[in-house]
Amino acid sequence: MVTEYHGPGNLSKIIDRLPVKFIGGRLCLDFVNTVGGRDQAGTIIRDKIGSYEDLLAWSVLAGSVDRRCAGVLASLAAREAHEAASVLSRAVRLREALYRMFQCAIEGQRPANADANVLRHELSIARAQQRLSAQDGRFVWTFPERLTAPDSILWPVPLSAAELLTSSELARLGQCGGADCGWLFLDTSRNHRRQWCDMQDCGNREKVRRFRRKLRA
Ligand SMILES: [Zn+2]
Repeated sequence: MVTEYHGPGNLSKIIDRLPVKFIGGRLCLDFVNTVGGRDQAGTIIRDKIGSYEDLLAWSVLAGSVDRRCAGVLASLAAREAHEAASVLSRAVRLREALYRMFQCAIEGQRPANADANVLRHELSIARAQQRLSAQDGRFVWTFPERLTAPDSILWPVPLSAAELLTSSELARLGQCGGADCGWLFLDTSRNHRRQWCDMQDCGNREKVRRFRRKLRA
């Protein structure tokens, strides 16, 4: 069923213009990739999530929140600015903790306790909201309280991260080799040699760099 969107017009505009890409292969990875990139030290270059509305727009584009729900949450957040701001800071804290945890996973290192605790905390909040619901002759996990909880847009992220961290797919976790990118992805290529977030983007830039180097030589 397609739901008509009647929420604040501003959100529709943000959804249309939010400069995000979905190349990670898992919700939690695309969530970590909501930055323009990261330099060698891990410092963020251009954060694409600067407000609760940005986070909401990203969730709609990611498919983790439907537009009707997003419209209701946008109105709620406009009334509860304090709470919306606190959800935004939780989102950024979770994103950065996940980035460091996934990097540790790639490098075969143990993640910092503080980062794992951030994930555990968000995971416990999300799990407490899950309900086992009967739908079309089977059972599925749903979130019945979403329309009244501004932080409900975060819930799918820790669930996705926990699923990936505990699955054998973690061995396929990769990081873009582009300069100042650092985006994460699941390498599902047959030979497991994916190097770039996007061949059209970092891949092409590297090709141009190599070509120029060759010309200079
Ligand atoms: Zn890249």
